[in-house]
Amino acid sequence: MRVLIAGAGIAGLTTALSLHAAGIEAQLVDSASELKPLGVGINLLPHAVRELTELGLGAQLAAAGIATSEQAHFDRHGSLIWSEPRGRSLGYAWPQYSIHRGELQMILLAAVRDRLGERAVKTSTTVTGFTERGGSVEVMLSSRRNARVVPVTADVLIGADGLYSAVRAQLHPDEPPPRWSGVMLWRGAAEGAPFLSGSSLAIVGSTTTVKFVAYPIAARPSADQHSGRALINWVAEVMIGGAEPPIRPDWNREGRLAEALPYFQGWTFDWLDVPGLMTRTREILQYPMVDRDPLPGWGRGRVTLAGDAAHPMYPIGSNGGSQAIIDARVLARALATAATPADGLAAYEAERLTAVNQIVLANRNMPVDQVLDLVSARAPDGFDRVEDVLAPDELAALRDAYRATSLQDVAALNARPPGMHVPPATGSVAAMDEKSRGSVRVEQGAKRVRAYLAGRLVADTKRPFLVWEIPYYPAYYLPLADVAAALEPTGKTEHSPSRGEAEILDVRVEGAAAAGAAKRYRDSPLTALRDLVRIDWGAMDEWLEEDEPVYTHPRDPYKRVDILASSRHVRVEIDGVAVADSVRPHILYETGLPPRYYLPLPDVRTELLIPSDTTSHCPYKGTAGYWSVDTGRGVHPDLVWIYRTPLPESQKVAGLACFYNEKVDLYVDGELQPRPRSPFS
Ligand SMILES: Cc1cc2nc3c(=O)[nH]c(=O)nc-3n(C[C@H](O)[C@H](O)[C@H](O)COP(=O)(O)OP(=O)(O)OC[C@H]3O[C@@H](n4cnc5c(N)ncnc54)[C@H](O)[C@@H]3O)c2cc1C
Repeated sequence: MRVLIAGAGIAGLTTALSLHAAGIEAQLVDSASELKPLGVGINLLPHAVRELTELGLGAQLAAAGIATSEQAHFDRHGSLIWSEPRGRSLGYAWPQYSIHRGELQMILLAAVRDRLGERAVKTSTTVTGFTERGGSVEVMLSSRRNARVVPVTADVLIGADGLYSAVRAQLHPDEPPPRWSGVMLWRGAAEGAPFLSGSSLAIVGSTTTVKFVAYPIAARPSADQHSGRALINWVAEVMIGGAEPPIRPDWNREGRLAEALPYFQGWTFDWLDVPGLMTRTREILQYPMVDRDPLPGWGRGRVTLAGDAAHPMYPIGSNGGSQAIIDARVLARALATAATPADGLAAYEAERLTAVNQIVLANRNMPVDQVLDLVSARAPDGFDRVEDVLAPDELAALRDAYRATSLQDVAALNARPPGMHVPPATGSVAAMDEKSRGSVRVEQGAKRVRAYLAGRLVADTKRPFLVWEIPYYPAYYLPLADVAAALEPTGKTEHSPSRGEAEILDVRVEGAAAAGAAKRYRDSPLTALRDLVRIDWGAMDEWLEEDEPVYTHPRDPYKRVDILASSRHVRVEIDGVAVADSVRPHILYETGLPPRYYLPLPDVRTELLIPSDTTSHCPYKGTAGYWSVDTGRGVHPDLVWIYRTPLPESQKVAGLACFYNEKVDLYVDGELQPRPRSPFS
């Protein structure tokens, strides 16, 4: 399948990377003559950071952006109304990043060129129209270089061509121009001393009059190695009203300080000098805040839309780029798993359209803005105690409404099985059989799998199915025809809301039996399960994947373990007592879990460790032994583990000690890490 993507913005580039990961060929075209790091800051919410991390870009984002730790709201006099944690501090397993939009685009562009080839992005090339022709779509490309228009044929066309999408215009010819909010935005970024926590996103003022948003998007050690300054992004929002925007929305339009500055005279707080920040800014951009009314449908046949082309929204909810990134994963997966391209695009639209349309509408009346507006109306001259202005339950209701509209549920995002981004790399995409119902995912595996009981073969299959009954790892379901053991009904059944009624079976081989160790879902609503048997992992003596034994549970094809030697400074404190200090950790990155810092024993105060009988087993690392820690102020059971003889692929952590990040104070390079939420919290 060959997909043509119009537009190499965040949506187009991420879509190309996701398609590539799904084994689908993509070509991008962009009307710009050169892709440059334009724009100013944007925020990537944890749900988008997760997608990019699963595309292998986590480290680059971490290096380029600032992990936002809180969002704080102030009245026009700089007094705090409320604040709340963000990203990892809110419990997400992924950070929220404040990042320069152009730098993010360059990270994506470099990854596209690296993975898809130098010619994957064709610049100076504009999509001007398309015609569907039975089994393909003919796309008209106009070249700026030679002023020629040439048709090219693709299997699918994705319009990721932004607010003024040509693809959208052809699909929806009667649409009015973008809808104007009445608000003018001036934006910029300038170096400055870090403010508040150093990673805070601050929102000040009121939407009905004047509002200012500021957040750091990059550390700036370059000017002075030790100054600790930051590049601070700011957005000045002024309600000027009127029926039409006075200027055409263009992300690159230059703005004038003299027009914006007067609105912010006197906005000098003890934590931020707003006029000073604006005045220090070399290049100011001006953008009238517009969006478009949500569409009842995006595309048809082999053509669809993504990113701003599909759902332009006000750039205030930190969600435009983030939602574009989610589009990419859903679109790639839908195309990779559907019977036809048109089915794939229809499935993509069915999953995304309503959800993202709701965000577009919610952004027009952000609950956080309502907090600001209420306070500004009730206490225009400021307040001493915020409780005198806003009742705690009023605030709680608005905060919950905000979280519901803008953020994904923390537990749901963290619990989603890792790797949903990328369909299996093994086997042909067309042959892949995957179904989801509720929280259960079913997918054909590619490995030969064997199970043994008392040395006798129970099953031997080259067609295993992986079923994610729980989010963390899959279970094997094996074709009935490949089960060698006798399966004897016990007369018992067990009900699962998603898989239906299971018949419980004994597994019998010569000389041994495992009581109730098999389940068969004959009439499962998941039709793929009906001719499969689930054999209890723990009831068997041995499982082999190909010819290698596997322990604990099947290996998840979407899990990856990387172990990297590092010179980061890692310090572990428990009850305020330093328990380990090392500048030579090995960091173990395992999909879906926080990074783990494995430390050499000489760097750990082993005199505080008490051996425990606890062991745990991991199919990727092997068997770990545990130690408790006695700090003198308390005993903390099973806080440290060591793999003395790990599996071959995890040799690098052999004999190193690791602490639960979730339960200790972990400092990396002097910075206290937020305690992550994980299944081990
Ligand atoms: C130059 C620029 C600066 C921006 N700056 C900011 C910012 O500072 N802060 C912020 O929050 N958001 C900014 N945005 C918007 C933000 O990036 C998007 O809201 C979001 O990332 C969604 O991205 P997108 O890829 O869907 O759309 P866009 O980022 O708008 O990208 C669309 C791409 O399509 C190309 N294109 C347009 N028409 C055609 C066509 N007919 N054929 C081929 N290519 C075409 C454009 O050149 C562009 O590269 C900016 C967008 C742009 C283009």
